[in-house]
Amino acid sequence: MVTIVEITILGSGASLLSPDRVLAGLMIEITGKPLIFDIGPGVLHRLSCSLRDLTLIEHIFLTHFHVDHCSDVPALMQSLWLEGYDKNLNVYGPKHLENAFQGISLIFPYLIPKLPLKLHVISPGYQSKTEDWTVTAFPVEHGDMEAYGFLIEAEGKRVVYSGDTRPCAETIKQAKDADLLIHECSLPDRMKDMAPNHTTPAELGALAAQAEVKTLVLTHLYPELLKELSEALTSIRRSYSGKVIVPRDTQVITI
Ligand SMILES: [Zn+2]
Ligand SMILES: [Zn+2]
Repeated sequence: MVTIVEITILGSGASLLSPDRVLAGLMIEITGKPLIFDIGPGVLHRLSCSLRDLTLIEHIFLTHFHVDHCSDVPALMQSLWLEGYDKNLNVYGPKHLENAFQGISLIFPYLIPKLPLKLHVISPGYQSKTEDWTVTAFPVEHGDMEAYGFLIEAEGKRVVYSGDTRPCAETIKQAKDADLLIHECSLPDRMKDMAPNHTTPAELGALAAQAEVKTLVLTHLYPELLKELSEALTSIRRSYSGKVIVPRDTQVITI
């Protein structure tokens, strides 16, 4: 059977380091073409394991401008340049996108002229479309930081990526009956007070149950959550009875 939509979890860690998990990154390949969502520290290296040709990348979607979600952008640009990249690199992100690239051009002035870049500032409901896929940005709740999740629709399938967020109604709406919800699950329930702008297992279980998603994938996992993984899964199971995946980095999920 030909697999049409393949999701690779490039990085499933969060900002406190785990030896076997790099920070936020996700690749969705649709008919062999990769879309990248977030590209945090270490994700470029994971791409070297998971993508046979880096120059296939034409679209990078950034959920927000915390370092753990975007720091490998200049490193990727340098690699693409050295690979002889000759396509348009489309980068989508919240309102500071242009400032971010001005910053890159100040620190690494040689990089910007080397690549045909197209920057797309996103806002709630922003859509990017080709004949093979549609990506829709929706606002999530991540404290003072403007942040988005993305709904990816392709081949009749619906995948939602939360980015960083506390549980929010918009995610439930966008993820309703989704084939796959890839949602952050940062810290154990007992640590909720330390991370009010993130999601805990109990909250995620309730959200996934309400959205009635077919499969739930946990990501943005802090070491404390991983140490208490079985308790976290029990907590999710109290509300949600669908399939739950705790991926390792570079794990491929097909739908
Ligand atoms: Zn964040
Ligand atoms: Zn984060």
